[in-house]
Amino acid sequence: MEKLVEIRDLVVRFRTDEGIVSAVNGISYDINVGETLGIVGESGCGKSVSSNALMRILPENGWIESGSILYHSQKGTFDVARLSPRDKRLELLHGKEIAMIFQEPMTSFCPVYTIGNQIMEAIRLHTDIPKSEQKGYAVELLRKVRIAKPEQRVDEYPYQLSGGMRQRAMIAMALASHPRLLIADEPTTSLDVTVQAQILNLMKDLQQEYGMSIMMINHNFGVIAETTDKVAVMYLGRIVEMADTAELLQNPLHPYTSDLFRSIPQVTDARGKKLEYIHGNVPDAYSIPAGCPYHPRCSRAQKGLCDRVMPQPREAAPGHTVSCHLL
Ligand code: SF4
Repeated sequence: MEKLVEIRDLVVRFRTDEGIVSAVNGISYDINVGETLGIVGESGCGKSVSSNALMRILPENGWIESGSILYHSQKGTFDVARLSPRDKRLELLHGKEIAMIFQEPMTSFCPVYTIGNQIMEAIRLHTDIPKSEQKGYAVELLRKVRIAKPEQRVDEYPYQLSGGMRQRAMIAMALASHPRLLIADEPTTSLDVTVQAQILNLMKDLQQEYGMSIMMINHNFGVIAETTDKVAVMYLGRIVEMADTAELLQNPLHPYTSDLFRSIPQVTDARGKKLEYIHGNVPDAYSIPAGCPYHPRCSRAQKGLCDRVMPQPREAAPGHTVSCHLL
């Protein structure tokens, strides 16, 4: 398959008052053209930091320590990790080649401008569409994301739209430049399940129409199972398991992946059955355990091995890699 992104051994660090911490520790993955990659894991596992590094939108105290991010743009291949902040190719990347949608669109839209004004700004920045046609194009985009009465909605403010409609409007803004990669960071987490299903179906349809790749960042395995072609499971800044989605769902090999599955309530569960959960919390980045980072929470940890030796990724089956001593 044609590759769009190739990330190799990426390390991202942050300088904090308590010292330097690594939020991403040597991750590698590819995103192919037209493919959906899911990134899953608990909060604080480095899911969003890795996508922000790909966009080069890390906060001031963060930097890419090492590794490469090869991006195959329509104007040639370049290593995003090596670009200077003023490199013109970052402009190409931001909004034109890659677009992002976030969990809560209310915080992404400016409350004092209409939805239409904000979509038109994206059109102005990222396309050559003449000013006289920009509003018509904004209406067309709102219609494409199935917002009813788009001619009326285009002149409304974000607070006048429901949560689902705001997320649709955010997708419309992201589509303005026909991006080749859409990064969706928990796009449906704040929505109720019926609206969530509508938004996910919409994204699938638009992906086919536009031929986009999607990076779906989510902590919900249900969403990941429904929408992705392959999955990377992250824990404490590392990818602990990666496989095609069907293979991972049928044959999870890393104890953390199995524990995440076990924590999903089933409608077939007996009444009164206690909800399963993963014991303990994700350790903070200042106190990463020695050996396998998951060993303090892992019911299958082996004393003397797991608490001392970091497991390296190994291929369990073609395209299915796991970092666990049990393999
Ligand atoms: Fe558990 Fe050991 Fe595997 Fe880590 S390496 S996941 S502690 S069994």
